[in-house]
Amino acid sequence: MIIKSAEFIKSAVEASQYPPGDFPEIAFSGRSNVGKSSLINTLVNRKRLVKTSSTPGRTQLINFFLINEMISFVDLPGYGYAKVPMSVKKKWGTMIETYLSTRSALKGVVLIMDIRRTPGYEEMNFIDWLNQFNISNILVLTKTDKLSKTKQIKQHLSIAKTLSVDKNDLILFSAKTRRGKDVVWDTIEGLFTS
Ligand code: GDP
Repeated sequence: MIIKSAEFIKSAVEASQYPPGDFPEIAFSGRSNVGKSSLINTLVNRKRLVKTSSTPGRTQLINFFLINEMISFVDLPGYGYAKVPMSVKKKWGTMIETYLSTRSALKGVVLIMDIRRTPGYEEMNFIDWLNQFNISNILVLTKTDKLSKTKQIKQHLSIAKTLSVDKNDLILFSAKTRRGKDVVWDTIEGLFTS
């Protein structure tokens, strides 16, 4: 994908605040600090379209972006902040669930995971939930540059096993080296044409 334009459209909490949904949409989800902003910025060749920051609270909104005036990217709030109270976690959960279960423009969700970390119940529940709602998922293992080749292979296989998916269903990515960028884009584009 050649990026001609990438712009922030708006932030939303409630469905009434979402933009119209005139473009096919891809949402991005992941544990906070996993590298979600870096991945989106890498995909669109921008350094700071999505601000990379690990400050909890800054990203409690659903952020909508428009790419090449034809594809909508949606940055969902990161989950897994240990310090956030249960009441706030519930609010995020509802916000994300409402978006995912009602958005008709949604074509699929990119779930970003750190290759160094074994996925937990949050990731597994999330994938189950997407499957129940018939929402396509694209699974990405990021920060691969942080592991040796041998450890990458080991983690790749182990994560595939934990998630009960084929290893070819996990895309190896690095925002640092841009590894996997084209594969992620091709997979996203595949969802638009299917
Ligand atoms: P977010 O909270 O999920 O949006 O995560 P960020 O994109 O802000 O990334 C969190 C931290 O991880 C930042 O310090 C990034 O520079 C770093 N990071 C993100 N992706 C990669 C990667 O692929 N490789 C390396 N080495 N660092 C990364």
